[in-house]
Amino acid sequence: MREPKLNTSPSPGDEVKTTTCYMCACRCGIKVWLADGKIRYIQGNPAHPVNQGVLCAKGSAGIMQHYSPARLEKPLLRVGERGSGDFKEIEWEQAMQIATSWLAPIRERNPDELAFFTGRDQSQALTGWWAQQFGTINYAAHGGFCSVNMAAGGLYTLGGSFWEFGEPDWEHTQYLMLWGVAEDHDSNPIKLGLGKLKARGAKIVAVNPVRSGYGAIADEWIGIRPGTDGLFAFALIHELLRGDRIDLDFLVRYANAHWLVLRNPGGADDGLFARDGEGRVLCLDRNTDTAVDADTIDISPAVVGEYTLPDGRRVVPVFQLLAERYLDPQYSPDAVGERCGIPGDTIRRIARELAQAAFDSNLVLPIAWTDSWGREHQEMVGRPVAMHAMRGISAHSNGFHTCRALHVLQMLLGAIDAPGSFRYQPPYPKPIPLPNRPGKARKPDGTLDAGPLGYVHGPEDLLVDADGNPRRIDHAFSWAYPLAAHGMMHTVLRNAWAGDPTRIDTLLMFMANMSWNSAMNTRETLHWLTDKDADGEYRIPRIIYSDAYASEMVAYADLVLPDTTYLERFDAISLLDRPISDADGVADAIRHPVLDPATQAPGRDVRGFQSVLLDLGARLGLPGMVHADGSPRYRDYADYIVRHERAPGVGLLAGWRGADGDEHGKGAPNPGQLDAYIANNGFWREEIPEHARYFKMANRGYLEWAQRFGFVASTAPIVLQLYSEPLQKFRLAARGHGPVQPPERHRARVERYFDPLPLWYEPFEHDQTSRDTYPLNAVTQRPMFMYHAWGSQNAWLRQIATRNFLYLHPDTGVKHGIADDDWIEVGSHHGTIRVQAKYAANTQPDTVWSWNAIGKRKRAWGLAKDAPESNQGFMLNHLISDVTPKGDYANADPVTGQAAWFDLRVSIRPAQDIALDGSEPQLPELACAEADERPLRYGAGFRNTEHRSQAAPEAPRMKAFRKKEGP
Ligand code: SF4
Repeated sequence: MREPKLNTSPSPGDEVKTTTCYMCACRCGIKVWLADGKIRYIQGNPAHPVNQGVLCAKGSAGIMQHYSPARLEKPLLRVGERGSGDFKEIEWEQAMQIATSWLAPIRERNPDELAFFTGRDQSQALTGWWAQQFGTINYAAHGGFCSVNMAAGGLYTLGGSFWEFGEPDWEHTQYLMLWGVAEDHDSNPIKLGLGKLKARGAKIVAVNPVRSGYGAIADEWIGIRPGTDGLFAFALIHELLRGDRIDLDFLVRYANAHWLVLRNPGGADDGLFARDGEGRVLCLDRNTDTAVDADTIDISPAVVGEYTLPDGRRVVPVFQLLAERYLDPQYSPDAVGERCGIPGDTIRRIARELAQAAFDSNLVLPIAWTDSWGREHQEMVGRPVAMHAMRGISAHSNGFHTCRALHVLQMLLGAIDAPGSFRYQPPYPKPIPLPNRPGKARKPDGTLDAGPLGYVHGPEDLLVDADGNPRRIDHAFSWAYPLAAHGMMHTVLRNAWAGDPTRIDTLLMFMANMSWNSAMNTRETLHWLTDKDADGEYRIPRIIYSDAYASEMVAYADLVLPDTTYLERFDAISLLDRPISDADGVADAIRHPVLDPATQAPGRDVRGFQSVLLDLGARLGLPGMVHADGSPRYRDYADYIVRHERAPGVGLLAGWRGADGDEHGKGAPNPGQLDAYIANNGFWREEIPEHARYFKMANRGYLEWAQRFGFVASTAPIVLQLYSEPLQKFRLAARGHGPVQPPERHRARVERYFDPLPLWYEPFEHDQTSRDTYPLNAVTQRPMFMYHAWGSQNAWLRQIATRNFLYLHPDTGVKHGIADDDWIEVGSHHGTIRVQAKYAANTQPDTVWSWNAIGKRKRAWGLAKDAPESNQGFMLNHLISDVTPKGDYANADPVTGQAAWFDLRVSIRPAQDIALDGSEPQLPELACAEADERPLRYGAGFRNTEHRSQAAPEAPRMKAFRKKEGP
């Protein structure tokens, strides 16, 4: 009998290449299978440290990102009015000549007339450096409207942060609190980690007004009211202090609990740390009753009380101030419970559970280590409580202090980089504050004296003029938003239109959909983009935009530079930017072309933006981008990744450096470096020695290891800052001290919000609008299938949801006379929209919510005219103002300038105009021609692999914008 011919494991393709996913910021390793030169299948790479083979829905749908009908295909030059979508296709040489002719005079005249802002850019090590070489202070990426509160709150407190710079100790945590997290940047590692916790029976508590994403598998959901997370944290701190369930040894050994603060009301040094003549911070040794260097070991420092130093200065330890503040009855669980929407008993129970997990679990790892002071420890004592937080707590006008509050809570539990707690990922922790301050002045060659973004240490680092007015177009690092470490992209268009502080000439943007879902006040944003002066010229004279896709922003550009997809490019996931390290090892990675754009579709002529930027820089003769004879220094981005050195031996990639490729961390450029990465599945990773993996802020083994890589300049311990002196310096300036002081209009605000201990205040929109008129909070979440994606449109992922609803609790619906599926009107102090409601019991009753960025403008993204995204989908952005209800400041955090998206307050009522069908507002459709409205099909030709060469599929293509014959 003949055996049946079965192939139980057919190969998915002819060829497989390993690279790095770009469908979100997690940067997993992927294996891309090709068949007949087309992508057949994307698989998670089991050999990759980030995802260990796990792939999410977005990652596998990368095929449709590559074959997207919305891909841009040629450089475009605007020929009609802005917004009309009237372009002509031009050749790259012409495009580069135009861009050069626009930018060269600016650099000659005043480089700040170029505003260069990027979106979810994963190449900020290049783009920030390019801006510095051009000499403009006006540069930032999208962190200012995403989560700078999270980053700055952490970096000014711990020298690290949640986000992708730290992670819970997945192997040992017994209690995990997720604050404001739906999905996260560190997507697949979190999913893997949550799986471990579930298998071990660890408790997961989700604090979020909406139970979605990871919250869906949490053991307990705390449906908190938006904007009150800081109050909840303070109530937990209150309970821990009241019950004396804190780790005082940790607070003295690793934090500044014992540092002495000067009490000199009205004085120029009030609230600063008491220092000796050598500048060393003092503490009081109770054994000798003398003030000594706070870094001294084997003493018994005072943490409570008030003292007089021999020179007559009155001082008080930081812990005394902390205890005074948070033991105040205003922070008791019963006092905050109503405002937070959490019963006092629940708060008390959570505090008890946190303390039990931290202190009663007796977790000890038998690992010997040496601390920064040379003391030998035979074991590592754990505190198995971990926290992780994200945009839900960050995107509020009180978010900076809330993020700091969470870190103070962790510190009280001793739960920073201890076994079982939050852990740093290298290159973090870093000194507090980070040493790199924002660039302010131009050198003789026109370059900026430092990168445009950085960390201010005090008022002297601000970018303000002699009258205290902002210098940057986004007002970052001004008296209004002093610690705006990621810039403020959300304010650029209004200010550029208004000429505040000055007019700009050219706006250069990369992958940022600023005319749609990345804008507050979307309709007026379109006005700013298209408004003209009396002479008929646009108020924002020139806009250059680069993207791979026909997003809503493209129509508002004058010159469009089409980028490649992520499968056609080189990229560096660099330690100089946002690396892929984990708590046990340092790592970086590359992308490399899996497909050659030139062979992909007839007539498609796209270039990687980073290579274009280097070409542009060379044409402009920017220092660093040209040789002495003016010839280009770098062939393209791949060449730059390999040969560029930021400092001797330090480049974008840390692996396989040195002439022979046998050096790691630092070393001369290696021409074979990219090949070495490709041969190693696209990444490099080095393990931290076992004795150096915890207590990194004061672990001699770790700090020596980190110094070898250049992550820290010295092996001095990094002291965690319960009390922040840089904030107090701003406060003193507001009180009239020091050479750099705020203008009168900012004094009270700086005094209030630059509190050196975390504080809570009502989010501005909550405070400045009527609770009767706008009784509900409204928030958005990015759905898991679109979270942090480059584009927000994908032909496969849209099958999960092609339109969004406004979700509300059934009780809320009944209270407002709204039934499931009713069309309703949603109003805010800024506007009104018409949307369809849906009941969802996973919602805190005072909160309504929706998916962000599902709603699309008609005919954008290559969508058909009747696409549900446009006709039934919507955005809450139309309700969100870019300024506070009073109109005096940006709708942002007063410390960091973080966009306060989640402060929104709304009213709801049944729709009045029942004749209408669909969502409102509907903006005019974007011009689009040559649309092929047949259903998008891909993959059918692969079904019979024996015949695939006759049936190789091709996704239907659509010209995204009207084309005129060029030149
Ligand atoms: S989309 Fe993000 S989480 Fe998913 S595979 Fe890609 S990088 Fe990983």
